[in-house]
Amino acid sequence: MTPALADYTTLGLGGRARSFVSAGTEAELIDAVKAADAAAEPVLLIGGGSNLVISDAGFPGTVIHVNTRGIGYAPQRIGADGRAVDVTVAAGEDWDGVVAATVAEGLAGLESLSGIPGRAGATPIQNVGAYGREVAEVITRVRVYDRRDDEILVLGNEDCSFAYRTSLFKSTGARYVVLDVTFRLARQALSLPVKYAELAAELGVTLGEGAGVGEVRSAVLKIRARKGMVLSPGDPDTRSAGSFFTNPIITAADLAAVEAAAAARAAGPVPRYEAGAGLVKVPAAWLIEHAGFAKGYGAPSPARVSSKHTLALVNTGNATTADLLALAREIVAGVRSAYGVTLTPEPILVGVIL
Ligand SMILES: Cc1cc2nc3c(=O)[nH]c(=O)nc-3n(C[C@H](O)[C@H](O)[C@H](O)COP(=O)(O)OP(=O)(O)OC[C@H]3O[C@@H](n4cnc5c(N)ncnc54)[C@H](O)[C@@H]3O)c2cc1C
Repeated sequence: MTPALADYTTLGLGGRARSFVSAGTEAELIDAVKAADAAAEPVLLIGGGSNLVISDAGFPGTVIHVNTRGIGYAPQRIGADGRAVDVTVAAGEDWDGVVAATVAEGLAGLESLSGIPGRAGATPIQNVGAYGREVAEVITRVRVYDRRDDEILVLGNEDCSFAYRTSLFKSTGARYVVLDVTFRLARQALSLPVKYAELAAELGVTLGEGAGVGEVRSAVLKIRARKGMVLSPGDPDTRSAGSFFTNPIITAADLAAVEAAAAARAAGPVPRYEAGAGLVKVPAAWLIEHAGFAKGYGAPSPARVSSKHTLALVNTGNATTADLLALAREIVAGVRSAYGVTLTPEPILVGVIL
């Protein structure tokens, strides 16, 4: 019998796959995908399983667990005296291990993305980001196996259509298998400028200033731990898929409607961030909380809102995927009815819909 996919997801949810393959080398990874494609068998790639909500019924096809390893460093000279290093990472490398290694090497660029679970190969999929930074800012190329044309390709940053929590890879289904990712990092003691107020306050710097790369990593890990956003086996609040919803990007007219609804509910000022072209991004956590779903909502059911972070839905014990989705639907309906905004899930849903 194949293993329960619940053992491969941070939510601890998901039934069994029809077949399950662990790919430890690039050749094994490509061969497993090719074999499944030749048999017209559906394929699901799993890295750390930290952005997946899989059906209780499991997956009717081949699950391939990406376990390739390897990190390579290629020093570059940028202009007269700029120093950079292109760091190429195999898809199966643990992401936070990569961040820790580059920080230890004295390289700046990934420090704000410390503590995010999962594997390096999944970071381009939803353009992983945190604390005002995204991987798209430092990715120079993504090497992929293109299942449709049966060839290995090197995609440049501009080919990847990176945007807020999405990319070419997310929008084309599972056409591309990420083999490795190259990040261009600066050899400098100072981090990239800090762009997030809570992080600047933790570091005691003003917004736009840098701090030591190691200090930024430590501060990010501290803030994330407070919110249950670093995996910790003993902490049921970290049994999640991270943020369950993306922050909605809305027009000025929609914002006016949200503000009117907030005023009617005495919910206070609506936080927002510029999102270009007359659009604003409103924190989904604020909408959820001010629609009546406080931290811990849903308890004592094991499918509930994290008691540390309103945006994370957690499975504290023996919940099912159906339980978690019922909670998610209740939240979507509540926010829509309070503010007229429809939340979109951030994780990839497999065999289920919201
Ligand atoms: C506690 C917690 C905190 C989090 N915080 C953040 C955060 O701050 N910012 C953020 O952006 N995300 C965050 N996440 C979400 C998640 O960690 C990231 O999206 C991460 O990059 C997913 O990596 P993974 O290896 O676990 O991917 P998986 O969940 O295994 O897979 C995600 C998707 O990528 C596909 N995929 C995986 N590997 C490959 C590959 N090699 N080639 C092609 N497709 C592939 C899968 O098929 C699936 O569609 C958090 C999650 C948790 C649990």
